Amino acid sequence: MCGIVAYLGKKMAQPILIEGLKRLEYRGYDSAGVALLGCDGIKITKTKGRISALEQILEKPEANAVFGIGHTRWATHGAPNTVNAHPHIDCTGKIAIAHNGIIENYNTLKKWLKNEGIEFITETDSEVIAQMIGYFYAKVIANPDDFGLNGQNKFEWAIQRTLRELHGTFGLAIICSDYPNMLIGARKGSPLILGVGDNEYILASDAAAIVEHTTSAIYLADNEMVTIGSDGFRTTTINNIAVTKDVEPIEFSLEQIELGGFKHHMLKEIFEQPEALGNCMGGRIDKQEHRIKLGGIEKYLRELTRTKRLIFTACGTAFHAGLVGEYLFEQLARIPAETEYASEFRYRNPIIEDGTVVISISQSGETLDTLAAVEEAKERGATVFGVVNVVGSTIARATDAGIYLHAGPEIGVASTKAFTAQVAVLTMLAIELGRRRLISAEMADKYLCELSLIPEKIKKVLEQSDHIREIAKANIEKNNWLFLGRGVNYPVALEGALKLKEISYIHAEGLPAAEMKHGPIALIADGMPAVFIATSGAQYDKIMGNISEVKARGGKVIVVATEGDQQIQKCADHVITIPDTPDLLQPMVAVVPLQLLAYHAAVLRGHDVDKPRNLAKSVTVE
Ligand code: GLU
Repeated sequence: MCGIVAYLGKKMAQPILIEGLKRLEYRGYDSAGVALLGCDGIKITKTKGRISALEQILEKPEANAVFGIGHTRWATHGAPNTVNAHPHIDCTGKIAIAHNGIIENYNTLKKWLKNEGIEFITETDSEVIAQMIGYFYAKVIANPDDFGLNGQNKFEWAIQRTLRELHGTFGLAIICSDYPNMLIGARKGSPLILGVGDNEYILASDAAAIVEHTTSAIYLADNEMVTIGSDGFRTTTINNIAVTKDVEPIEFSLEQIELGGFKHHMLKEIFEQPEALGNCMGGRIDKQEHRIKLGGIEKYLRELTRTKRLIFTACGTAFHAGLVGEYLFEQLARIPAETEYASEFRYRNPIIEDGTVVISISQSGETLDTLAAVEEAKERGATVFGVVNVVGSTIARATDAGIYLHAGPEIGVASTKAFTAQVAVLTMLAIELGRRRLISAEMADKYLCELSLIPEKIKKVLEQSDHIREIAKANIEKNNWLFLGRGVNYPVALEGALKLKEISYIHAEGLPAAEMKHGPIALIADGMPAVFIATSGAQYDKIMGNISEVKARGGKVIVVATEGDQQIQKCADHVITIPDTPDLLQPMVAVVPLQLLAYHAAVLRGHDVDKPRNLAKSVTVE
């Protein structure tokens, strides 16, 4: 999820690795490290914190240290501390790796390797890769005739043997002290690019770390690997079938690349949602056993199944995710649920009875109000879980257990992909508790299948970005907007309004659509934009009534509707469609057009989208 840089050439590797890592730091960081190959084998230096902290502890490299790998980590498994920082080395000390991504079956592989007598040092999923390559490498060295090498070198063979066992995603840079002139890269699901310079190679997860040295590159595809030696490079699949790759020019400027071609981090993160949800749900939906596996709370599942009352505490966007959670847990698991602003919870003398479970939701895991609510709930005897994006953050450590979002670093101040991932986590938990308490296995199965379709559905919404920009443009002069939804889409309306306020500084209110007639309808006049979430489902007819009420009073109706809905085209001024989705799963898809609407409105008004005025990414003050 974060960054890899590796160098093999004629220059000193260390400064090149450090410069490269700095270029990748914008993607998020919590620790960093480098492994250099010198006369005495592999030397690893790593530390918690930023690249500058790593720089301070690095010693002067040996004069001929022209070969090494570096990593800046954004932890997914294991606290962001020095031990867990990459590169990781196997127990023979010969193999070092830097890994981006998530190894979903690391627990199974770790157990197996432990049985084989291998000792693990870190809590990461990644260490399993180093240990497994080391394990197979030692085996093939001891008995080369047993493994049918067909002339292939043993290091490469051990890597391929390992990669074929891994489930999940990886971008990898790998070195072995027995091969002082060989650097190997491999990828599946995490980017990896090889910069091809003049007698030098830079392997990196992002072109930002390469362009300073060369603008010629090859882009690895999934399940491909590259073996770089002093005489050039070779590309194969991880099954050792040769593939020919073209050397292509890198056409971006540094700044563009850092944003991956997007104008802002927020837009990038909106577009990353299919991938982020894929990472969040990947490995957790077990279709064979018809259940959801949430490793972090496994030990507490029985207690959770007996929950009598759920309280979500959160702030801002995460609060809206909690509101969606209320509907999910009530409908799917029949557990009474309520959401409290974390800042209110602690001061209202909250009632925590036997069987009350508190779930705290925070992207950063550092939100001070939410942390205070966690402490309050704990003091009153509740079991407290965290739904957090940043591994090892304060809330992740303060709670009894939790579920990580695995959504990747979120840099844009206005939260987008963290929201959809928070809702995805709550949905998975609600389905699993529902399956245990109430809904049939078939029904649970249906939800599991539908859940895995969500990333593809979001892609279809993203395709409408230009259309949504036109809608924002047509209404950009309006200074007051309403966002209206019913049922589980009411929190989506609140989130839409919040996004618009945060970055475009346009006043907006989110309401349950039926509440409008109890007061706010008085505001409707002169083309005031009212954004309805009017997707298919139980409340469709009711919301059509609300749309007519706005239309009749001169409001401008912008609708998020289900694909193929002819009726709505007639009564709306603008329509954005989402693919048909079961009611309860709609928020993850229906919120995306509202994120885009807010984004385009802010850009059209000329605001700095990634650094909105008066706001900070994680609010660590009361
Ligand atoms: N899953 C790995 C870890 O937690 C790699 C994370 C990354 O890509 O930075 O260490």
